[in-house]
Amino acid sequence: MAKLHHLGFPRIGHKRQLKFSLEKFWRGEISETQLQQSASELRAENWHSQQTLAFDFHTVGDFSLYDQVLDMSLLLGNLPKRAIQGENQLDNYFRVARGRSQQKQCCSTPHAGESDAGEMTKWFNTNYHYIVPEFDQQTSFELNADNLLLQIKELQRINKNAKPVIIGPVTYLWLGKEKDQSNKLTLLPALLKTYQQLLQKLQENNIQWLQIDEPILALELNNEWQTALQSAYHTLKQSPVKLLLTTYFGELKDNLLLASQLPVAGLHIDAINGQHEVSQVAALLAPEQVLSLGVINGCNIWKTDLNDTLSWLAPLHEQLQDRLWIAPNSSLLHVPVDLESEIKLDSEIKNWLAFATQKLQELSLLGSALNEGLDTVFEQFSENKLAITSRKNSTRIHNPDVQKSVASINAQLGDRQQGFALRSAIQKKSLNLPKYPTTTIGSFPQTKEIRATRKAKRSGEIDADEYQQQIQQSIQFCIEQQHKIGLDVLVHGEAERNDMVEYFGELLAGFVFTQFAWVQSYGSRCVKPPILFGDVSRPQPMTVKWTKYAQSLTSKKVKGMLTGPVTILNWSFVRDDQPIKITCQQIALAIREEVLDLERAGIEIIQIDEAALREKLPLQRSQWSNYLNWAIEAFRITANGVADKTQIHTHMCYSEFNDIIQPIAEMDADVITIETSRSDMQLLNVFEAFNYPNAIGPGVYDIHSPNTPNVEKMVSLMQKAAQRIPVEQLWVNPDCGLKTRQWHEVEPALINMVEAAKKLRASC
Ligand code: GLN
Ligand code: ZN
Repeated sequence: MAKLHHLGFPRIGHKRQLKFSLEKFWRGEISETQLQQSASELRAENWHSQQTLAFDFHTVGDFSLYDQVLDMSLLLGNLPKRAIQGENQLDNYFRVARGRSQQKQCCSTPHAGESDAGEMTKWFNTNYHYIVPEFDQQTSFELNADNLLLQIKELQRINKNAKPVIIGPVTYLWLGKEKDQSNKLTLLPALLKTYQQLLQKLQENNIQWLQIDEPILALELNNEWQTALQSAYHTLKQSPVKLLLTTYFGELKDNLLLASQLPVAGLHIDAINGQHEVSQVAALLAPEQVLSLGVINGCNIWKTDLNDTLSWLAPLHEQLQDRLWIAPNSSLLHVPVDLESEIKLDSEIKNWLAFATQKLQELSLLGSALNEGLDTVFEQFSENKLAITSRKNSTRIHNPDVQKSVASINAQLGDRQQGFALRSAIQKKSLNLPKYPTTTIGSFPQTKEIRATRKAKRSGEIDADEYQQQIQQSIQFCIEQQHKIGLDVLVHGEAERNDMVEYFGELLAGFVFTQFAWVQSYGSRCVKPPILFGDVSRPQPMTVKWTKYAQSLTSKKVKGMLTGPVTILNWSFVRDDQPIKITCQQIALAIREEVLDLERAGIEIIQIDEAALREKLPLQRSQWSNYLNWAIEAFRITANGVADKTQIHTHMCYSEFNDIIQPIAEMDADVITIETSRSDMQLLNVFEAFNYPNAIGPGVYDIHSPNTPNVEKMVSLMQKAAQRIPVEQLWVNPDCGLKTRQWHEVEPALINMVEAAKKLRASC
């Protein structure tokens, strides 16, 4: 009999209950007991909904009030010392977690903080962010398993087969950062002692199996880390509970032999990304070892082809019998909770989807087919086949015109007519901008009135004319303000946009939107990615009328504002029925039309934001160039069809360019604006070393802070920039968009920024 389990379930709740409880608690509206109570209810709700599925194991430890990595730090007694300011554990925990989160964020990705909070960073190749563990010479560990044991007991009250999940010791070290010159790997022996104590505790609490996650097995590991894994699992060999060593997010590749030979009771591998590795791993395992296969995709929202999966799984079941376990390939943390909540979703498309709850049902069906025979679930498998076929053949997905355009993409499509030097001379003449030109990144404050206008339009309270009038008023106000402030290149302010991806997704064909399909990004922050289900096209212009209107109000240049193809792709749930490169090309062609329409409408500067360019960089370095090739190509297709006279800007709000400077240069944007203010312009070193030829707008102040930036500070930052980049190539702008700020913050900040630019010009 194949056994069934899962690696983790979303914890935010189907109506984001956790988010609301947390935020109430942080605002002081509910007590700690009430918060813990609602957390406990959420866990019970999750377990309850899984009760009917007859899984062999029930997962516990997948819940977290903020982040599972931070939970590990708490469990191992490794919260940063500065956060321990009293007896209250939860208080200390949140002190590490937050710090910056009182401030609003401009994007769905967090920005590294300078406060006392722990640093936050991306969890492998997902849009989830974890709190980075901290290590130094003094680091020691002390088991603090109360929280986990409490949850185990909760589960055991309703079900005896509790399988806790924790992060393995080597991945835990790998995820963390040394705060001094020490080497975190030297902490392994001490760390393992604490893990051994935990294993003991778990056994005392009647645990048989422990899921121990080592997702770094999906990375390219050097000798040192491979040896660490060897030594860790040899040390834990005598574990009093059985270990299910678990890896996800990709193939094992060079780690296949290592993973298959570690002395553990079972191994879970990602059979979605690494299906071709399954037979090899099965052959390498010892006769008593369990092989758990991740056969349902935990990172996307599409239905599994159950018939297809069964056909390759059945022979393995024959071979392995009881030793075969099946599960989703990763935790379901990365997908929304329940499709049933989507009552407004188009029924045809809904029939192609599966969220976390549905994915567990799929797993249960597969289990029945394997263990009791296909005839016991024949009807459900037939329904699944119909859904899969309907998706394959739907005319809503396949648009021959789009496919023709993609097929006709050629190498020249992404080339500008002339090189940067020649076209920048042309642009200088026609745009007639001063040295150190000033501009902003696009959005201006999203006031209450603006939000109310958009809401009224959605609910039908105001008609299209009324809506247009109100948005035009906002644009007019925004242009007037920018005039007063004295900026050189203006923007319309993005009042019509709720979100930089959603806005375009709603206007492009090929996307649908959900009501409740939230996914945790970090802490209480969730995102609701659009679903990109079909060929992408642009039925009509999306931004032209707003930009044109803004331009009609001023003799200064207004910069058109678009989101780039890679960012739209990376912040959506993307179809899995064609190479992602093709999907990206389709978006690129659609946005290219918008670029060309803006140009025809007389807009001479167009910005194409690629805030999420880095987001889907593959986990394995050796795959980077493949990704970057098509990603950069897509940007070039979007941007570079314009005449020499048209100036293309791009914006990226992160600060890691060292490893991608060549591809960034290949984008060939005339101006790139980046986040730099917090790096003291150090970030420009890589641009300097590369001899980056085009213009750069290094952000001179951090828009995440409500404080007014100081003129002298900005002058000095730009002087530092000028030591690295020729003055003719420099622009002056904030780090990112201003939509989360208030006008009373934005106005003085920008006045100072303009003042700084004037000073810089005077000293040229
Ligand atoms: N143009 C967008 C804005 O200003 C860019 C946002 C972003 O980079 N995250 O809001
Ligand atoms: Zn930004």
